[in-house]
Amino acid sequence: MNRTLYAPLIFELSRKGREGYSLPSDNLGQDKYKPCQLPAHLLRQEAPASLPEVDELTAARHYTNMSGNNFGVDTGFYPLGSCTMKYNPKINEEVAALPGFTDVHPAQPTETLQGSLHLYHHLAAMLAEVGGMHAFTLNPYAGAHGELTGLMVIRTYHLRRGDYKRVKIIVPDSAHGTNPASAAVCGLQIVQVKSTAQGTVDLEDLRTKLGDDIAGMMMTNPNTLGIFEKDIPEIARLVHECGGLMYYDGANLNPMMGVCRPGDMGFDVMHINLHKTFSTPHGGGGPGSGPVGVRKGLEEYLPNPQVYFDEVEQQYAMRFSKEALGSISSWLGNFGILVRAYAYLLTLGHEHIAQAAKLSVLNANYIKEQLKDYYELPIEGLCKHEFVFDGLRAEYGGDHHDPDHATTLQVAKRLLDFGFHAPTIYFPLLFHEAMMIEPTENESKETLDRFIEVLKNIAIEARDNRESLRTAPHCTPISRPDDVKAVREPRFKF
Ligand SMILES: *Cc1c(COP(=O)(O)O)cnc(C)c1O
Repeated sequence: MNRTLYAPLIFELSRKGREGYSLPSDNLGQDKYKPCQLPAHLLRQEAPASLPEVDELTAARHYTNMSGNNFGVDTGFYPLGSCTMKYNPKINEEVAALPGFTDVHPAQPTETLQGSLHLYHHLAAMLAEVGGMHAFTLNPYAGAHGELTGLMVIRTYHLRRGDYKRVKIIVPDSAHGTNPASAAVCGLQIVQVKSTAQGTVDLEDLRTKLGDDIAGMMMTNPNTLGIFEKDIPEIARLVHECGGLMYYDGANLNPMMGVCRPGDMGFDVMHINLHKTFSTPHGGGGPGSGPVGVRKGLEEYLPNPQVYFDEVEQQYAMRFSKEALGSISSWLGNFGILVRAYAYLLTLGHEHIAQAAKLSVLNANYIKEQLKDYYELPIEGLCKHEFVFDGLRAEYGGDHHDPDHATTLQVAKRLLDFGFHAPTIYFPLLFHEAMMIEPTENESKETLDRFIEVLKNIAIEARDNRESLRTAPHCTPISRPDDVKAVREPRFKF
């Protein structure tokens, strides 16, 4: 890799008295034009601001080189499990930047917003088709925000029926951490249900948790181990029988879209992560979008404002309905993300959505099968779009009963030397040395093969040259920051 190994801070490049600009003191002889003077009370009175003193070229090079140390899908393979870091076609960016979308305000007269409202309405209908749902709101700002909104729909449904005793929600132990968190924010008590050795929901354990205090159950399918929950029809029957509703965490919709639909499996409420499945770039906390879909009969509870087509006026309009659970965002969500998702769906169509889903599954299984002799595969068989290794196999130094074993963290750090982003590590919590790989459908076979080759070589290195692994990465600007300290005591200033 061709990177500057050590990037000095801009303050370290500073030289006293050096200036990045110069303005002449003369006025080309035109003294009758007095230079503009700032009023005295606006001038800084104390010591000059403590700014780095560098010439302009040094500043330009410094920031240009630093930007090269960024990692993104546009620079390299990003197999971060549970995140679907897929490529965002550039046309989506161009469309989202059109002034007709960026220069409008939701409070302007609706007849001047017809294009944006049409997009919202049409995208909601397309997502309803993909999810097998009746109606969608696009207002929530993220997956977790969608979960909260969906759970509020479920709670509102029970309360409006006068059923006040349903205060509990069932969540599998393999769930993404946002599931119990959203449920707690919604004021629900979490009842955990166990996973079987095959990584799916334990039906026996589930039966013991059901009762008339259950508001519903949250499920992710494929679950966070990348495994298809094959017992959903039976689970949905049991939960419905006790009066609860089924919630589908659709952040993992990538391998399902166009192939099968949560609505057909018996789910009542779901969310989708547009910033995962529908190609919006994400990372570093946003921006995101977590639309929520509901089956027929629940649509009136969806949050305000609601977009609809006014048949009398023959145009799109927004309403603030009394039946709704309230508002969960200002106006219509992260609209730029909606535009990207809309462009993505229109450019793929039904046929290619299904093909993308199948390729994401093929790519994940290809990597898994090529590497399972080197890395410990706790659950055999077909996975969907992602899978989990439990660290290196014992013969490559991964036996975690040995206190000196080669760890998943070391493998992840070593991968950085080869220009790959690390997979998700130590999640899900079901395994000691979890390493969760999600390639997405976008990558070429050559990229997948190189990734496989590098991970095989790292396994051999773990067996034969542990020191190299322990001290990796060797080629990045910073090697091993204390990440706990960085989170607990962040220092953003020089
Ligand atoms: C990413 C993810 C979420 C949360 O989505 P955010 O947009 O990060 O809030 C929820 N569930 C699953 C399974 C996920 O992968």
